[in-house]
Amino acid sequence: MTPPTAVVLSFDVEEHYRIEAAARLTIPDDARREYADRMEAATRKLLAKLDATGTQATFYVVGEIAVSHPRLVRDIAAAGHEIGTHSWSHRRVHTFTPETFRDDLRRSIDALSAAAGVAVVGYRAPTFSVTRQTAWAADVLAGVGLRYDTSVFPVRHDRYGVPDAPRTPFRLRGPGGGAILELPMATWRLGAQNLPVAGGGYFRLLPLKMMFAGIDQLTRAGAPLAMLYFHPWEFDPGTPRLPLGRVSRYRTYVGLAKTDGRLDRLLERYRGRFRRAIDVAESLDAAALPGFALTP
Ligand SMILES: [Zn+2]
Repeated sequence: MTPPTAVVLSFDVEEHYRIEAAARLTIPDDARREYADRMEAATRKLLAKLDATGTQATFYVVGEIAVSHPRLVRDIAAAGHEIGTHSWSHRRVHTFTPETFRDDLRRSIDALSAAAGVAVVGYRAPTFSVTRQTAWAADVLAGVGLRYDTSVFPVRHDRYGVPDAPRTPFRLRGPGGGAILELPMATWRLGAQNLPVAGGGYFRLLPLKMMFAGIDQLTRAGAPLAMLYFHPWEFDPGTPRLPLGRVSRYRTYVGLAKTDGRLDRLLERYRGRFRRAIDVAESLDAAALPGFALTP
């Protein structure tokens, strides 16, 4: 019997100032330190909640944090959660060449594996920046010893997305012939569109029932998983506000006061179905999955 669709809670662990909307801001050192402290506190609060509900999750951690906060990385892994990489310093894939991207990935994998005490085999690109413009990244990902990638968001968006990518796991093929197992972000298919209901700003902005509708639709379709994503700072309503423009400010801070209660409802509704991304990846027969060529 096939197991019911797994719900994967994933957390992209980064200090709040690393968000794409703040990429052009200069952040003073004392502010960086405060954001780093709050990142650790918010992550530990999440660990306590996961522990209290017996939930296992996956944490995609920025490599530099393995150096600045090695105990945090070790504690996440020791609690039974998966550690994946969220790049070395949160630069989007677009800013690299294939060679520098490979170096960045290896550096993050080595540092995180050392801090965690277990091998890191999963990757999530900053801002879902594995897209058609960075198709070459699939070849690099296939060649650095990773087990899976989870950077493709099958939606139309101004900053990211591969709208025609499959909504369930597939083999992501690069233009150079490399292939890697892809666990795409959860979407809700409505008419001819995939709606982004996997987490982040959508989790804060949209009614929670839209996320549930997406997960339940994937479940009815027999999908192996529904991949969700969150950030520790999204569970820290008192996080100091970055001086963003009006639209970015709204997108970034809408609904921050509601996230804690929403996560509780999510944990309650899908109790018993939460699994780590690596466990889902290992349960799949990659050779039997459809291929999808990421072409420029
Ligand atoms: Zn990120």
